Amino acid sequence: MSNVEVDPAALRCGAADHGEAVPRVEVLTARDVPLGGPRAMTVRRTLPQRARTLIGAWCFIDHYGPDDVADTGGMDVAPHPHTGLQTVSWLFGGEIEHRDSMGSHALVRPGELNLMTGGYGISHSEVSTPRAAVLHGVQLWVALPGEHRHTARDFRHQVPGPVRLGGAEIRVFLGSLAGDTSPVPTFTPLLGAELVLDPRSTTTVPVDPAFEHGLLVDHGDVHMAGTLLRPAELGYLARGSDTLTLANDTYTPARAVLLGGTPFEEEIVMWWNFIGRDHQDIVEAREAWENASDRFGSVSGYDGDRLPAPALPNATITPRKNPTPLEGTR
Ligand code: MN
Repeated sequence: MSNVEVDPAALRCGAADHGEAVPRVEVLTARDVPLGGPRAMTVRRTLPQRARTLIGAWCFIDHYGPDDVADTGGMDVAPHPHTGLQTVSWLFGGEIEHRDSMGSHALVRPGELNLMTGGYGISHSEVSTPRAAVLHGVQLWVALPGEHRHTARDFRHQVPGPVRLGGAEIRVFLGSLAGDTSPVPTFTPLLGAELVLDPRSTTTVPVDPAFEHGLLVDHGDVHMAGTLLRPAELGYLARGSDTLTLANDTYTPARAVLLGGTPFEEEIVMWWNFIGRDHQDIVEAREAWENASDRFGSVSGYDGDRLPAPALPNATITPRKNPTPLEGTR
């Protein structure tokens, strides 16, 4: 996925004023962002936003579908670069063809982790295949910590087996949950899992109290620690809890993605598809892409041109500050 906002502003996000009564779960709503392409498939973006820029090292959440590919034209994201981050593609339905400058050529399918490490620089394309009529999933980004942000590019594919806990079927794609641990290493303590909640069920999941968590609801209405989340909403829970109770009061299964991690302490600069630490990092990455430098390599097999970088803003891009975690009780 590429960030194709016309003006991908680098926002300075300060702590929100939450007054006296601090809600335990903060409900973050999505905004619609067109991905580009002839018919402009739209995604629902819940991270980053003014109220929150990071959950652990998770720094970007795009949620899409279920979309009829015949209506939206599906996904067709031309070769574009990344630096300083990892991308996670996780599908609920459909199929995406991934090509990158390591020479990886992979089919992204439902329930399979595809983790691409940008590190110092990588480029990739993502195109939905004609084999699936419906496209439905999430694309997530993970910020790399300073000591690893220039690591070598990498691509991993892994298929987590489902595990049962209470009324939930869980697929742990990064980190540990419900007794299952992903074999895929991470650069910071991190959790990523899909949960399908049985109808009329309540499940209490042990979680790491050092982690803050985000729950993105895909379908159904889900109560996260007692707070109702509707489809496409992201519930945020600060660190400090050692269990998380998830309830589905409806008569159909509900699906959600649970993300977590220790609060990311570094300030980052995020612009277009790059994460750096200051304005100069972004200028250099953009220049390298525009000059077709080896830093990002090239993608073969994509039918079309690479994406040009947008123009830099006139102002100096300033770091995003992590908002102060909300650690009160409801
Ligand atoms: Mn991308």
